[in-house]
Amino acid sequence: MADLYQQFVSSGPGKAVAQRLGLPRPVRLRRYEPGQPIAAGPVLLGGHGRLLSTLTKTLEAIGIETADSASPYGLVFDATGIIAPEQLRELYDFFHPVVRSVRPSGRVLVLGTAPESTENVAEAVAQRALEGFVRSLGKEVGRGATAQLIYVAEGAEDALESTLRFFLSGKSAYVSGQVVRVGVAEIPQVQDHDRPLAGKVALVTGASRGIGAAIAKTLARDGAHVVCLDVPAQGEDLSRVANAVGGSSLQLDITAEKAPAALAEHLSTRHQGVDIVVHNAGIIRDKTLARMSEAQWDSVLAVNVVAPARINDHFVEHQVLRTGGRIVGLASIAGIAGNAGQTNYGATKAGVIGLAQTLAPRLHSLPATINAVAPGFIETKMTASMPVTVREVGRRLNSLAQGGLPIDVAETIAWLAHPGSAGVSGCVVRVCGQSLLGA
Ligand code: NAD
Repeated sequence: MADLYQQFVSSGPGKAVAQRLGLPRPVRLRRYEPGQPIAAGPVLLGGHGRLLSTLTKTLEAIGIETADSASPYGLVFDATGIIAPEQLRELYDFFHPVVRSVRPSGRVLVLGTAPESTENVAEAVAQRALEGFVRSLGKEVGRGATAQLIYVAEGAEDALESTLRFFLSGKSAYVSGQVVRVGVAEIPQVQDHDRPLAGKVALVTGASRGIGAAIAKTLARDGAHVVCLDVPAQGEDLSRVANAVGGSSLQLDITAEKAPAALAEHLSTRHQGVDIVVHNAGIIRDKTLARMSEAQWDSVLAVNVVAPARINDHFVEHQVLRTGGRIVGLASIAGIAGNAGQTNYGATKAGVIGLAQTLAPRLHSLPATINAVAPGFIETKMTASMPVTVREVGRRLNSLAQGGLPIDVAETIAWLAHPGSAGVSGCVVRVCGQSLLGA
């Protein structure tokens, strides 16, 4: 569904009208295209702490110039040296003179130490304060630029590269105001950065259309063989997607009693297991609780959270998930903020977050990771069918003043699936343009 408002305010007369009336003016976001450099210009590096030398080296290694510039593409600040609230002034001193000169679709990254792993109260308070700073700056920076906070554990300096690549590139176009934790992990060498998933097998549920099809396409672009799964009724579309990505298709209802065992059998016999599992299949059956039928409640619970939980348990217990495995669950901002008419859906999507947070430490020794990705307003057939006013409000209520695309969710999942992201586990990453809902 074309965003006609965005087209209008990007045109000459539309721009003038929007400016005069103070209306939001969403910019066209810089999204990744093959061959594109990670950063669209130099990055200004600031702050002091245990990450500065790693940052300097890593940025150089990934081809990002760190230099003073009248219009930097990115501002990257090492805040690990801030160990008391009084030192937060350093944020003001660094960002105040330069924040207005960040380029359109530019990047702001602040790196800190997770408050729970700090030495004392003063440091914990200062590091926790970074979250409010970054989330506020994300709402101010404007013109398609984004801001994130990355808490890096002591000793995890070498586990940072894939996360820097993602957040500094066009792949994170619709992700803003997020707080991500990078922990200590062994990072394997990646031979080909254009195909980091070469040799990996990925399972994507609900892959016949929408966000699932974009995930299948993106993981295949990155080199994975993708097993595309959907219900038999979607068989034709499913084959089309599987063929287009050079993967294979599997028709299965994930809620069937024997689905986990059937899936395990399929993946073990044909692929000797699975490396990446994306629980994307999801349904909505919206009604206020008082009007909701038992079937509406039960079906949403069964698809969105019961089936993924059973599949995860089965895969781990029977060692179908290989060492270095990745599990990603699709949550939703409805699972964070809640939504009238979606008690069933909101419960399941919060459950998906619970799965990621609870299983992460248990999968650590395998090692494997599990994370949740929570989309906001994404331009799909589902959102195109909304009444026009609801759709317009949904689109604009975020810092980027526009809806996201399925590719934005897919790129986030590809980052979590990356071999270099072994230190990112138990996180909830929202792909919502920093939605005002559940902020
Ligand atoms: P969609 O309805 O277009 O696709 C979902 C797919 O899941 C369909 O192909 C469907 O056939 C499949 N599916 C449903 N039940 C299944 C079952 N029992 N077994 C196997 N496959 C089954 O949805 P979408 O908009 O692409 O959303 C994908 C995911 O992202 C969902 O989990 C959804 O809750 C989540 N999400 C979407 C948005 C959005 O704006 N579109 C926002 C937040 C979260």
